[in-house]
Amino acid sequence: MDRTFVMVKPDGVQRGLVGEIVSRFEAKGLKLVGAKLELLPEERVVEQYREHLEKPFFPGLKSYIMSGPCFLMAWEGKGVVAIVRKMVGATNPAEAEPGSIRGDFALDIGRNVIHASDSLESAARELGIHFSAGELVDYSRIDEPVLYE
Ligand code: UDP
Ligand code: MG
Repeated sequence: MDRTFVMVKPDGVQRGLVGEIVSRFEAKGLKLVGAKLELLPEERVVEQYREHLEKPFFPGLKSYIMSGPCFLMAWEGKGVVAIVRKMVGATNPAEAEPGSIRGDFALDIGRNVIHASDSLESAARELGIHFSAGELVDYSRIDEPVLYE
């Protein structure tokens, strides 16, 4: 089964949105297989956002992500990477659809509440940056037989 990396950013943690965000993914039927609250060290922020290192917004992005604790999660399910990206919404909250997390809870591209991996490859890479193998848990959700055809 596919897995993806999702992170409530410091603005989302400070605004008390962790529970609401976890609830949405749980209600969808996705399985939480790892979670922790952490102040991210600089090297992991740089590693996660390495594609953006040369972008003008990178210094601001780095200080935003390091401004407080992040809530890091691993979610599992059929097609989970694309499903979670859709539930998260467009990068710029002004363009994110109502009903998406960014569409419902954010206003500014630089304070967009949540991160989610954009492909299976980046999901594997980002999970590897933030979680050790022992921190990801294999188990069954009791409702799996009725969630999947
Ligand atoms: N970002 C920003 N300004 C920009 C573009 C991106 O502050 O003009 C930040 C924003 O927090 C975004 C993150 O950099 O979520 C990573 O950008 P990406 O294009 O990968 O968007 P995402 O994958 O998060 O939707
Ligand atoms: Mg991205």
